[in-house]
Amino acid sequence: MITLRLANRMSRLGTEGAFVILAKARELERKGRSVLHFEIGQPDFPTPQNIREAAKKALDEGKTGYTPSAGIHELREVVAEYISESRDVDVHPDEVVITVGAKMGIFAAILALVNSGEEVIIPSPAYPAYESVARFVGGVVKTVKLREERNFSPSGEEIASAVSDKTRVILINTPCNPTGGMYTREDLEDIYEVVRRKDLIVISDEIYEHIIFDGRKHESALSISGAKERTILIGGFSKSWSMTGWRLGWVVAPKEIAEKIANIQLNVASCPVSFAQYAAIEAIKNSWDSVREMVREYQERRDIIHEGINSIPGFRMIKPQATFYAFPNVMKLGIDSKMLADILLEEVGVALLPGTFFGREGEGYLRMSFATSKEVIKEGIERIRSFVKERFLDV
Ligand code: PLP
Repeated sequence: MITLRLANRMSRLGTEGAFVILAKARELERKGRSVLHFEIGQPDFPTPQNIREAAKKALDEGKTGYTPSAGIHELREVVAEYISESRDVDVHPDEVVITVGAKMGIFAAILALVNSGEEVIIPSPAYPAYESVARFVGGVVKTVKLREERNFSPSGEEIASAVSDKTRVILINTPCNPTGGMYTREDLEDIYEVVRRKDLIVISDEIYEHIIFDGRKHESALSISGAKERTILIGGFSKSWSMTGWRLGWVVAPKEIAEKIANIQLNVASCPVSFAQYAAIEAIKNSWDSVREMVREYQERRDIIHEGINSIPGFRMIKPQATFYAFPNVMKLGIDSKMLADILLEEVGVALLPGTFFGREGEGYLRMSFATSKEVIKEGIERIRSFVKERFLDV
């Protein structure tokens, strides 16, 4: 028998725990068990109707062929305009690449910028693709622990202490999956002070920029003075417009980097889906009311899950400022997060993720997506509460 020999790099490519738990949960459901889903970070709303109509119209008009690898010009223009206005910087369509989901942007940006042996700083717990891809391309990951007492926003000092002569990129994510926290303007300014001093590049994933609560304002890396020539901004349509399956994101980067990112995409996928790009123009131009309506609903759910979680003995949680993730601290239970997540799925049918799926800094936490109905949230909390009261008598 022939033994297939994989390339060495394959041992460095990670996976995404949410999909593993989802598969496990589905398996239990097939066996007739009732499972409540808090594991997957996917909006539960349909894509707004006007966006769907725009896609149908594009299909009917025959917009079904390849597009330029960086995306259609009209969409790059609309994204450039939106980013310019929202960040108060001047972004040209040549500096925008429309990507096959934000994930393609993350992958291409890291691939384009990080040499083997160079260091990538990742404030952590963090979205798993960052470390996976950074390691895949031969980079060395240095994490900086995001601390609850700082609302999970890293200080410039903490970032500076992780920088070495080999550091190339700092990969930040605000608002943050999994913590639900947002970086403060002050912290961003301090981080950029380090970035300028050490001649580094920032990849800033801001895909949750609209899912923000209590009237807060999103602070973008790109709004920091002088940041533009050192920043690769990642964003996209999946979360804010409930378009996860459309696979559309954007990268905003200095023109010469944008061209390289488009060339990576050209080699991998040729271009983003043609008719979806026309629908995305409608999303940015005419769908803000729908976005606001979804965010209002997320905020109500956030309030329910926040109050509910804090009523469970041994669970403690600060109010998420943004995203649709709750990140309860369960250290008081004295059990490791993975084991707790496994037990909750198997014994009470609540599917959620251990914080360690987002790096070892996530130990002691669970991540629960509240992109699900209020009824499911209330029932899930009840199941967890009864279980904890029964099993953890001394908390
Ligand atoms: N960035 C973050 C922080 C995310 O949480 C996700 C999805 O969960 C993505 C990027 C991926 O977005 P997309 O579906 O547009 O590829």
